[in-house]
Amino acid sequence: MASTAAEATAEQQQVNGNGDQKTRHSEVGHKSLLKSDDLYQYILETSVYPREPESMKELREVTAKHPWNLMTTSADEGQFLNMLLKLIGAKKTMEIGVYTGYSLLATALAIPEDGTVRDPASCSSYATNRRFSFSPDLGTDEETLLLFWQILAMDINRDNYELGLPCIEKAGVAHKIDFREGPALPVLDQLLQDEANHGSFDFVFVDADKDNYLNYHERLMKLVKMGGLIGYDNTLWNGSVVLPADAPMRKYIRYYRDFVLELNKALAADDRVEICQLPVGDGVTLCRRVK
Ligand code: SAM
Ligand code: CA
Repeated sequence: MASTAAEATAEQQQVNGNGDQKTRHSEVGHKSLLKSDDLYQYILETSVYPREPESMKELREVTAKHPWNLMTTSADEGQFLNMLLKLIGAKKTMEIGVYTGYSLLATALAIPEDGTVRDPASCSSYATNRRFSFSPDLGTDEETLLLFWQILAMDINRDNYELGLPCIEKAGVAHKIDFREGPALPVLDQLLQDEANHGSFDFVFVDADKDNYLNYHERLMKLVKMGGLIGYDNTLWNGSVVLPADAPMRKYIRYYRDFVLELNKALAADDRVEICQLPVGDGVTLCRRVK
């Protein structure tokens, strides 16, 4: 066992000479761009797991037993999203691609209880068939209208969301979430039909079908507020973005690779946003709307 970072790196270099070990590294290590799995493990054990809320730990453990657990947001990325949302003071957010809800729970724990909506017109459209309430303490003027949900969450699969839901409920934040089962694109188009929704979201996390990211982007550029953030997940796509096109890759990695490459180029060239591509998880690109 390596006792220092330098030894661990040397050990990793030796390990990489062995085909089997290489596979192990790419499976575990794709969650980061660090020099070794030991370094990633160090971050998790030193700074992430000890500070992970109990509900997120439980959800992570529930998810670990699910056959598609490779899809989950990693604990370090969850911690990052949670802090990011607090830093920007996000109140109204959207998530495209929920799975069992790890990033959703990180979001729900970060946003405040009092997600206010300044424009009552947006409430009436949003609140159709949904629970909403006026604050008894604050009165019922436009500024104090409170919605009981502040995160619009979408996924084509409700079963996976429901697998994690007990942990979200136990954390006491399920009331902040409006989950919609089905493809996200039509929901975005529906939102766009009402002007009141334009420029209304503080943050959007996109973590779903990569072949639709650019379609989402065009719509989200209207739905997110000026200065608001969109986070596109998996923009390093398991490291495949730097592999030659004929390199061996899993089928789903190969299928989505060109879409991720196209997205990364398009975001870099889009002057409506400032961008920052972070080597967190499988790569997350933050876009701050400036036009
Ligand atoms: N953010 C999740 C987490 O923290 O665990 C992981 C999301 S997982 C990588 C991708 C999800 O996108 C899957 O649950 C899948 O069902 C969903 N999805 C795929 N296509 C979709 C679409 N067109 N609209 C909405 N969700 C979609
Ligand atoms: Ca992801």
